[in-house]
Amino acid sequence: METKYAKHVALNPRRDHATRHRHPWIFSGAIRAVEGDPAPGETVAVLDAKGECIGWGSYSPASQIRVRMLSFDAGLVADAELVAGRVAAAIGRRADFWVNGYTSAFRLVHGESDGLPGVIADWYDGWVVVQLASAGAVYWQDAIVKALETFTPGCRGVYNRSDVDCRVREGLPAEGATGLLAGEEPPELIEVREGGIRYLVDVRHGHKTGFYLDQRDARAVVGSLANGADMLNCFAYTGGFGLAARAAGAMSVTQLDISPAALELAKRNAELDHLCGTRFDYVEADVFKQLRLYRDQGRQFDLIVLDPPKFADSKGQLMRAARGYKDINLLAMKLLRPNGILATFSCSGAVSSAFFETICREAAFDARRGFQIVARTRQAADHPVDIAFPEGEYLKGLVLRSTD
Ligand code: SAH
Repeated sequence: METKYAKHVALNPRRDHATRHRHPWIFSGAIRAVEGDPAPGETVAVLDAKGECIGWGSYSPASQIRVRMLSFDAGLVADAELVAGRVAAAIGRRADFWVNGYTSAFRLVHGESDGLPGVIADWYDGWVVVQLASAGAVYWQDAIVKALETFTPGCRGVYNRSDVDCRVREGLPAEGATGLLAGEEPPELIEVREGGIRYLVDVRHGHKTGFYLDQRDARAVVGSLANGADMLNCFAYTGGFGLAARAAGAMSVTQLDISPAALELAKRNAELDHLCGTRFDYVEADVFKQLRLYRDQGRQFDLIVLDPPKFADSKGQLMRAARGYKDINLLAMKLLRPNGILATFSCSGAVSSAFFETICREAAFDARRGFQIVARTRQAADHPVDIAFPEGEYLKGLVLRSTD
């Protein structure tokens, strides 16, 4: 086909609908031809079956998601300037976070939903930690890092934590995935604040970029229900929910996790503040086993948090994931005292919030207890979901109170 677009992908007939509706992913099956031998991550024009340009995206030859859209406007070519502008705009949308001062750690760039597919950037009181997880994100790495340094107020350094599984699926090298990209090395542990609570974050070795920023709103909800509670925090990681409960006056907190390193940091976090009163226990165990042990011992709690890692990476693992969620929720429901609270979460994008609620309803039925939903939570506002990209919604939570 004659075209002025040297590097381009041409879509199959009737496969332009999603792109025209601003969905950022083009799967390999939608593509009829690739012209101009684009390099991994390079910008290609996206042409419909008639040869009309409907936007520009980054080419990912090794991924099923073959193109990630950067621009839905034929006249707006995706170049370094556009990418830098996207970074600046995303940071600008977080202005309130700096102004209101509730937290010194939040997400600056949230991938597809901020118009930058595969790009994550999180702020930890002076440092920006990035995850570049697509060919396009890596192709534009220099422009992205420069823009983060330029537009983030008070930025002292940019650190790379791109050691993520999806880099392999994108055919990207493991080398160069971690380390300092600009400015000063971050300290071993960065101290951040959230609603008056202090947390230490290990940005080099921690999960994701170091902290579960996405659970900020849920931590506040759990705190609001924790006064006087005897709490069990399952999948505690560095203790977030337990520390929020302590600040709100919990009587005792059991931090339960399988990782000794996570619990070690949870302990250090508890020692940062000298609030008296709350008793902390640290239990290094598998939640699936420990909940059964508590059941057999007749141990009960007023407040239980279940915040497991992702159980399903894809729709194919959905049923296995459902069994895992039902198992822990059923066990936890049985451990609650009358009027007890269960805050239960799923961060598996493949599990919809409706499906998660169904799983919890069935768990309640099998536990032979009544529950009312007192709150629903989702990923915090610095982790937005583009309305054209429902896949961006991954974290959901239900806060349940037993009625008997
Ligand atoms: N609630 C945490 C985040 C949880 S991340 C927060 O708000 O910060 C998931 C945690 O589950 C990790 O710390 C991991 O070590 C732990 N984990 C994974 N599988 C586990 C299991 N079977 N039993 C106990 N902990 C587990």
